[in-house]
Amino acid sequence: MAISRRQFLGTLGAAVGAAAPLTGSHAAGKTFEGHPDSSGVLHDTTLCIGCRKCEQACNRVNDLPKPEQPFDDLSLLDQKRRTHADIYTVVNRFEPENTGATAPVFAKKQCNHCLEPACASACFVKAFTKTPQGAVVYDESLCVGCRYCMVACPFEVPAYEYDNPLTPKVTKCTLCAPRLAQGKLPGCVDACPREALIFGKRDRLIKIARQRIMDRPHLYLDHIYGEHEMGGTSWLYLAGVPFESLGMREDLGTKSAPELTSGPLSAVPVVVGLWPVLLTGVYAISKRKEKIAREEKQAVLKDARQKAREELTAALETQREKMTQEKTAAINFEVKKALEEAAKKEAAPEDPPADRVEKNISGTQTPPSPGTGQQEE
Ligand code: SF4
Ligand code: SF4
Repeated sequence: MAISRRQFLGTLGAAVGAAAPLTGSHAAGKTFEGHPDSSGVLHDTTLCIGCRKCEQACNRVNDLPKPEQPFDDLSLLDQKRRTHADIYTVVNRFEPENTGATAPVFAKKQCNHCLEPACASACFVKAFTKTPQGAVVYDESLCVGCRYCMVACPFEVPAYEYDNPLTPKVTKCTLCAPRLAQGKLPGCVDACPREALIFGKRDRLIKIARQRIMDRPHLYLDHIYGEHEMGGTSWLYLAGVPFESLGMREDLGTKSAPELTSGPLSAVPVVVGLWPVLLTGVYAISKRKEKIAREEKQAVLKDARQKAREELTAALETQREKMTQEKTAAINFEVKKALEEAAKKEAAPEDPPADRVEKNISGTQTPPSPGTGQQEE
C-alpha cells in the first residue's frame, strides 16, 4: 500500500504522541546547553531596500544553481517566497495596506540559527549541530532522510532535494560557517549595501538593537525579534511594524524546542524503544534506494561493456577479412607474374654457350655447326 510522506510523518508523530502518556512527562528532558558567546546577525528591516544583493551573494558563495530570473529582476518581490532546496534565503516585500507603514517594508528570511534548535532536537541521528560560533550546521552523511527536521522547524526553513533521486539531502542557510572559519563575513552581510545586516556577537547585537530602539522610538517597535522567541535565535530582527505583518510568527512563545518537548521526549523507555524501529525502517528504505541505484548503475555498466565487446569483435572480424582479401590478392598477383615470366622464357630461343662461338674468315663470329665440338680436318 502506498503511503505519502505526510501520512508517514503523521503516523510517526501519532506513535510518539501515543507513547508519551504511558510513562508520564515528569522525567527530566535533556536539553541543549546553548552557546552564550556565539555570533549572529541583526537584520534591521527599516534599512532594507529589497535590492536582493544578499540573495545573489548567498547563491554565489554557496555555489547554488543560477535561478531562471536574474537577481536584479525585482518583480519577484511581488510574490511571497520561501526558502527552497536551491535557495537558502529570500527577501519579501510587504505592502503598506498590510503593515500599516507608509511605504513597503522588506524582510529577509533564512534559517534563524536557533540557540536550541528544534531541527536538532527532532533529529535522532544528530545530523544537526549547534556550533559554539552560532551556526546550526547539517551533516548529510548522518542524515537518514526522515525529514522530521522540516516538520519540527517553527520557521519552516529546512528544504529537501526532491529533484535529486540518488543522493537527496536537507538544505538550509549555514550562516556561512565555512567563511566564518576563514575569518570572513557571511556572504549576505558582506554584500548588503545598506548595512541592513550586521554580523557580530549576539550579546553585542542585542545592545545595538536596544540602542536603536531607544534613540528612535518613533521608528522602531520595542521588540527585538529572536531575542526570546523559541528560546532565542542567532538571527535578530528590528522593525517599525508588527512582525506578524512581515510573515513572522509571534505565537511561538519563549520556550525552546527541547524545553517544549522535554516531556514526550523524556518518555525514554517507550519512545526510545519505538524510534529505533521507526528510524530503522526509514534507514532501510533509504538504503534500499541506494541499493537499487547501485544495481541500476551496474546493469548500465554491464550493458555498456557488452556493447563495447561486440563492437570490438565486429571491428576485428572486418579487419581480418580485409587482410585475408589483400593477402590473397597479393599471392594471386605473384603467382600470375611468375607464370608469365615462365611462359616468356619458354617462347624465346636459347643463346649458344659462349665457349662454342668461333670466328669465320671475315672475322665475324658465327655460331658452330650442330654436332661440333671437335676440330675439322
Ligand atoms: S530556524 Fe529551523 S532550521 Fe534553522 S536552526 Fe531553527 S529550527 Fe533549525
Ligand atoms: S542586501 Fe541588504 S538591503 Fe538588499 S535586500 Fe538584502 S538585506 Fe535588504
